[in-house]
Amino acid sequence: MAKYEYDIGVIGGGAAGLTVASGSAQLGAKTILFEQEDKLGGDCLHYGCVPSKTLIHSADAYNGLLNMENLGLPSVKQSPVAFSRVSDRIQNVIDTIQVHDSVERFNELGVEVAFGAVEFVDSHSVKVAERIVTAKKWLIATGSSPFIPSFEGHEFCLTNREIFSLSELPEHLIVLGGGAIGIEMAQAFARLGSKVSLIQRSVQILSREDKDLADIVMQALVADGVEFYLEHTVDKIEKQNNEHQVTILDNKGNRISLNSSHVLAAYGRKANVKSLELEKAGVKYNEKGVPVDSRLRTNVKHIYAAGDVTGKYQFTHAAGYEGGVVITNAIMGLPRKVNYQWMPRCTYSDPEFAVIGKTEKELQAEGQTYSVWTEDFKNNDRAQAEDAVAGKIKLLLSSKGKPLGVHIVGRNGGDLLAEWVAVVNGKLKLSTLAGAIHAYPTQAEINKRVVGQYFSKKLFSDKMRKALKLIHKYQGRAV
Ligand SMILES: Cc1cc2nc3c(=O)[nH]c(=O)nc-3n(C[C@H](O)[C@H](O)[C@H](O)COP(=O)(O)OP(=O)(O)OC[C@H]3O[C@@H](n4cnc5c(N)ncnc54)[C@H](O)[C@@H]3O)c2cc1C
Repeated sequence: MAKYEYDIGVIGGGAAGLTVASGSAQLGAKTILFEQEDKLGGDCLHYGCVPSKTLIHSADAYNGLLNMENLGLPSVKQSPVAFSRVSDRIQNVIDTIQVHDSVERFNELGVEVAFGAVEFVDSHSVKVAERIVTAKKWLIATGSSPFIPSFEGHEFCLTNREIFSLSELPEHLIVLGGGAIGIEMAQAFARLGSKVSLIQRSVQILSREDKDLADIVMQALVADGVEFYLEHTVDKIEKQNNEHQVTILDNKGNRISLNSSHVLAAYGRKANVKSLELEKAGVKYNEKGVPVDSRLRTNVKHIYAAGDVTGKYQFTHAAGYEGGVVITNAIMGLPRKVNYQWMPRCTYSDPEFAVIGKTEKELQAEGQTYSVWTEDFKNNDRAQAEDAVAGKIKLLLSSKGKPLGVHIVGRNGGDLLAEWVAVVNGKLKLSTLAGAIHAYPTQAEINKRVVGQYFSKKLFSDKMRKALKLIHKYQGRAV
């Protein structure tokens, strides 16, 4: 008789959990999946990627109407945005995609789905309501929640859980935090017609990225009307009737008071570990989340963790990738380690900011030698034709000419990065990219052009000129 009811129990029905549950069941493992909300899909579908990108698309379309004259078209008189209709559209898109993550679909794949908040009883058993469930292996894929520092009045902040379903467009939105979520939301609401102010503690937005490129994105948001308070932190928020008075402090302690209709906290995320009773399973965790080894095992080797809860790369594609690694280790029994060297990321502002590999900041901190190659979108014919000239590509190469990092700030930067995803993962030579024929006119030509910069420096070098002079001398040349 089997010692446990299931081969694997998965806690959390988001990107990581769904990947592992469907893969495990399809490989024949007896699988149970738990989700505490009443629908599968997790943050990405309900409160993250999907609603944010849907909102951004509506905002971009509305903003496009403002710029009709730039395209030689008649100007259009716009009515103000009725946000409830935008949020209805967001919900429709979520509902359509939800079909992929329906209970029926997972049941058909062989997964048993149960709803309810799970807590561990011991390292092989969990409790859901009054039911005890045992499994040989477990995956913790409980994701993350918005982090809000505990300043006075923090409870007045909206988060990504409320912002997409507002009934009215905020008159004045104050965004706290200049990371990817804060930047995307600030631009989208500014484009929809809200007055937007953004408070950011550090000296630049998107503080992980190189400042020269982050500044290009910031300039685009300034042009959309976003007001920035860099090197400022929130002291307190007071609510008077429907107004919020937000007091912020600069780095010298000076105070400014701002009034707003809404405040959005976009400070970052905290791992969902508290309610899991991890102590009872003997699983260690810290303020970042659940630490795992390179095979995504926690300190209790039959309990795995993947996705945002590990506190590492908090992206849907990272959660999906890690899910695959868990399946290989836990279900197929093959040792497979994670490799994050080429984990891409993208901020979906306009222009988008897409990155793979290292930043200059990181290379400098490591003391690595590198060269920088850039190409502006304004030199790209398609970008000119489409009035999308803001931004550039920056390629960082090792002394041996190997890519260390690729950064694209430009319209559709995330899609343009895909060619680099193939180049670095396939270990392609840069000469292959330089020699590959790209369709004209496409923005993707910028990938070939930036590599061309590197090769033309070699091609038109003194060394090459001297070599050719010798050849010409030998062959005789026209007079
Ligand atoms: C506004 C916003 C925009 C984003 N945009 C992007 C983007 O464009 N691209 C991108 O790659 N990433 C984006 N992300 C990040 C992305 O949403 C997350 O990285 C991804 O959802 C992580 O997946 P996960 O499976 O780890 O966690 P989740 O998707 O959060 O799933 C965890 C699930 O576990 C459940 N759960 C928690 N505790 C328990 C419990 N005790 N018992 C049972 N169930 C439990 C939760 O209810 C949840 O459904 C965005 C995030 C936000 C907030």
